Amino acid sequence: MIDFLSNNTKIIENIIQKALLQNRYELLEPEAKEFIEACGINTTKQRMTSSREEAIQAARSMGYPVVLKIVSPDISHKTEVGGVKLGIQDDNGVVNAYDEITRDVTSRQPGARIHGIIVQEMATPSTEVIVGGLRDPQFGPAVMFGLGGIFVEVFKDVSFRIAPVEEYEARDMIRQIKGAEVLKGFRNRKAADISALAQTIVQVSDIMVTIEEVKEIDLNPILVYPIGLKAVDARIILNQFISSQNS
Ligand code: ADP
Ligand code: MG
Repeated sequence: MIDFLSNNTKIIENIIQKALLQNRYELLEPEAKEFIEACGINTTKQRMTSSREEAIQAARSMGYPVVLKIVSPDISHKTEVGGVKLGIQDDNGVVNAYDEITRDVTSRQPGARIHGIIVQEMATPSTEVIVGGLRDPQFGPAVMFGLGGIFVEVFKDVSFRIAPVEEYEARDMIRQIKGAEVLKGFRNRKAADISALAQTIVQVSDIMVTIEEVKEIDLNPILVYPIGLKAVDARIILNQFISSQNS
């Protein structure tokens, strides 16, 4: 397919194929994360589980604290239906979270198909940002950057560029948002790793330019650290009109 994917083309093709064969156009979170990881974007350790015992096993093997989340093709906003439990500290917490998620999701969204519950490492909380990719009907592939939470939802404080973007343009996008100061650090908070962030924007741009099956990407949020970053949630929407043969 392309250079930046090196040996990971197959992984990506398989994820896309599997979803399309099941008539799914929105990848499940674990699939979307495996996808971006294959594109070089750092994300959380994760394991799919389908019983409390498996969830405990997974949590022990990656180490506490962990996060549990619902995996359902019918749910894209997991928190809204009680599908996310953060900061779980021990086996008991895993069992409680597993049961609560199952109970709350079933009562708030009856009929939602549940593929399982994913166990993830709990990433250290930090500044949250969003990197997105989309296809503009007029301009084609584009990328978006913003700070997470209310900055995007309330203030619409985001920047856009037409892809492909190079690193210097990605850095401009980061500088351009009104909340950019937040990334420079203040009081006890260290500055965010702008290079890592710019690199991620370029990677999302590369995905949009080279993988035509991808209609939309939403890495929301990415936690940015003084060194490095981690995408803790990922959504990828596939195009309905392209056959999977074209890749
Ligand atoms: P939603 O589908 O509701 O967007 P997310 O997966 O984004 O669910 O989880 C909601 C919030 O929980 C995130 O915005 C982030 O603040 C936090 N979060 C999610 N996963 C992790 C994780 N693995 N480590 C640390 N924080 C996380
Ligand atoms: Mg999210």
